[in-house]
Amino acid sequence: NNEIDFDDEDDELLLKSVNECEAEVTKNSTKAQFPLTSGDGQIVPLQKFRHGYLWVSDLSSQSWCEQQMFYKFTIPGVIEENPAMTKGTDLHLARELAAHDVVQVQVTSNEDIWAIKVLNLLTAINAFQFGQTIAREVPIFGVPFKEEDIFVVGLIDELRFDPENYTIDLSELKTRTSRMNPSKAITKQHKIQVMLYKRLFDNLVKGTLSKNTIAKHLRLDLNKEFGDQIVKHLEEKTIIKKNLNDLMDHVFEKMQSLTCINQLHVEYVYQGTAETLSHVTHQYDEGEIKTLYLDYLKFWKGERSPIGVEIEEAWKCQRCDFESICEWRTKKSEECAQRNIQKNHLE
Ligand code: SF4
Repeated sequence: NNEIDFDDEDDELLLKSVNECEAEVTKNSTKAQFPLTSGDGQIVPLQKFRHGYLWVSDLSSQSWCEQQMFYKFTIPGVIEENPAMTKGTDLHLARELAAHDVVQVQVTSNEDIWAIKVLNLLTAINAFQFGQTIAREVPIFGVPFKEEDIFVVGLIDELRFDPENYTIDLSELKTRTSRMNPSKAITKQHKIQVMLYKRLFDNLVKGTLSKNTIAKHLRLDLNKEFGDQIVKHLEEKTIIKKNLNDLMDHVFEKMQSLTCINQLHVEYVYQGTAETLSHVTHQYDEGEIKTLYLDYLKFWKGERSPIGVEIEEAWKCQRCDFESICEWRTKKSEECAQRNIQKNHLE
C-alpha cells in the first residue's frame, strides 16, 4: 500500500525518542479542562481520545478519512506496526541523529516533560543563532486560531535557516514504499500538516502564545520546581531556570528574535534505498487551513459524528483495514445503489 502515510503518526513516538523519558508520567494528569462534554452531556472526542489537546497528525489524518481515524481510536489493534512503519521511523531517526545528539533525561512530572519540549525548541533557536543552518525534530505547540481555544502539539521534521536572507524554510520528510508520485489525496494531507506547523511556529515568533495559555490547557504548574535531572541538564547548558515560568519566558523571548517560516516543503524518500524521490513545495493559504481546521474541530468537540470518504474517493476504502466493518461505507454503498435504482427507473 503506497498511500498509507508511514510517518504520519510518528510524532508522539519521535518526541519520546528525542526526550528519552525514563519515567512515564500518567497521562491523566495532563487532561485539559475544556471542552469536556458536548451539549448532550457526552464526553467529547477531544477528551476521550486525546486527553484534551490534539496532535497535528490527528488533524492531517482527518483529511484522509475521519471515519478511519475514529476507528483507530475505538477499535485498537487492527493496525499493527509493520516493517514499512519501522523503516519510516528508522529513516527519521537517522536524519535526526545526523543533526544532533540525543541524551537521556529522567523526568518526574509533566512539568519536566514540558521543560524538555521547550528545551528542544530552544536547541533549534540556538542552533540558528550559533551558525547552524539545520534543526531537526523541533517541537511546536499552541492555539492555531483564536476562534477556538484548542491546544495543538506537533513535531517539525526539519527547519532550514538561511542566514544571508534571514529566512527559515520547513521540510517534512515522508517515506514511501514505491517510487510512484504521491496521490492528490496524500499530498493534501501533507499540505495540511505543514501549514499547521507554520501557523504554530509563526504564532510563537509573533508572541501570540502566552505561558498561561499553555499552563491552562495542559494543567501545568508554572511555578513547580523541575526535578533534579532537569535542573542538572539545564545547568550543563548554562541555563539557570528552576521552573516553566522562567524557562518559557527565556525561550519565548528568543523565539521572537526569529522570523516566520518562509517556504513549506515535503520531501518524499524511497524506503528501499533512502534516496529522495521528489520535493513538493506548498503555498501557505491561511483561509484554506483555517476553514479546514475549524471544520475538523467540530468532530473533536462532539458537534458531529465522524465523516468517511465520499464516493469519488471510495478507492481509499479498498486499502482500509476497517473496510469490512465500516458503517459509513455500507451507508454510502446503499445510497449509491438506491440512486442507481431510481436512475434506471426514470430511464
Ligand atoms: Fe474510511 Fe472507507 Fe475505511 Fe470506512 S472503509 S473508514 S470510509 S476509508
